[in-house]
Amino acid sequence: MEISFAGKRALVTGAGKGIGRATALALARCGAEVTAVTRTQADLSSLMEECASITPVCVDLADWGATEAALQGVGPIDLLVNNAACASLQPFLEVTPDQFDQSFNVNVKAVLHVSQIVARGMKARGSGGSIVNVSSQASQCALRDHAVYCATKAALDMLTKVMSLELGPHQIRVNSVNPTVVMTEMGRVGWSDPIKAKIMTSRIPLGRFAEVEDVVNSILFLLSDKSNMTNGVTLPVDGGFLAC
Ligand code: NDP
Repeated sequence: MEISFAGKRALVTGAGKGIGRATALALARCGAEVTAVTRTQADLSSLMEECASITPVCVDLADWGATEAALQGVGPIDLLVNNAACASLQPFLEVTPDQFDQSFNVNVKAVLHVSQIVARGMKARGSGGSIVNVSSQASQCALRDHAVYCATKAALDMLTKVMSLELGPHQIRVNSVNPTVVMTEMGRVGWSDPIKAKIMTSRIPLGRFAEVEDVVNSILFLLSDKSNMTNGVTLPVDGGFLAC
């Protein structure tokens, strides 16, 4: 299936590393004008070396005011990928207020905020659009030491559904992808231990973790007009984990 984003303007958050970086590069390869948002300048510099057409925005999305200022000048956006997130793992009884606030600020509040900024423009132009939120299998399944992360992703799934309800009449579709473990920097923090990894893969019918490209391909599908009637779904990219 050929997907072209020629003439489309895309914004990807958390585009410095992992899934977000690969998504930004894939969108650029498919013809989109891409704005990459992340908080580490060195990642943006290396991304621009890899793909000179990408427009960089360096901001900490946990900071509402700084985000508002940083995104003011990005111009019209047709495709939004809310990918940035943090995963701070700890036993439930050791969760601190700071860890809770930081996680909800990035994983949920920043998604709401960036989406408001982008969707207001889409609505004003009457051009419609597509938004993909990067959630997780952890939104729907309890994982040890993931109390806060699971809670943020469960909140994100419901945010996705309400956004799809309210933005749908403006022809703005909102969906999420919900991957299983991917061995990015974030994935390695939780799943490098071979015993833990084996227990997880044994619960995945396909018997393996997801590759970055598995997730990117699902994001591209949901962004594209190949999924024109799909709105408000949480799409597992999990080898069947959530089906069991
Ligand atoms: P990585 O940690 O590899 O990359 C995350 C990117 O987001 C980094 O560039 C990071 O920048 C950026 N980011 C994080 N916090 C902020 C912030 N406050 N402001 C701006 N940028 C920020 O993660 P993945 O690629 O693995 O994860 C991408 C998405 O996929 C996340 O939503 C994650 O929850 C989800 N996911 C990941 C899974 C996995 O196993 N890897 C499984 C299921 C879902 P910096 O490095 O500078 O902090």
